[in-house]
Amino acid sequence: MAETIFSKIVSGSIPSHKIYEDDHVFAFLDINPLSRGHTLVVPKEAVATLGELSDDAAAALGRVLPRLCRAVARVSGSPDYNVLQNNGAAAHQAVFHVHFHIIPKLPSGAGLGVDWKPGNLSSDDGEALVKELATALRAAP
Ligand code: AMP
Repeated sequence: MAETIFSKIVSGSIPSHKIYEDDHVFAFLDINPLSRGHTLVVPKEAVATLGELSDDAAAALGRVLPRLCRAVARVSGSPDYNVLQNNGAAAHQAVFHVHFHIIPKLPSGAGLGVDWKPGNLSSDDGEALVKELATALRAAP
């Protein structure tokens, strides 16, 4: 994978407002925040999408994400926040190194705007999807 700006931030060759680091995880402030406290959490492992991440790196991220969320919520002064994780350009991923956004949702409305257009799950498609996903899960390493 081509080196991304986040690998350079993790290695320290590009500066960032670092807020947390351990053996597997690095967290820093987003340079274009949607709201005050908008934080990015990245694995040190340099892969583009969540599905490519090793179990060890994923476990390390999962272990620390709630603690980082609590810190961001405390500092933002709002208990509300979104955790966003984009995979692929069509899904709004701009930097191709896995990252989680923690985005405070403030009483002013600042934060993530969600334009969510829900559909309906028919029982036929539900049954079909359960089978397809069970097969896909068995096939996935
Ligand atoms: P995404 O669309 O999920 O790939 O989000 C990429 C995020 O990275 C955006 O919110 C950018 O503002 C942020 N970003 C890009 N470059 C930097 C940087 N040098 N330091 C901090 N955040 C950055």
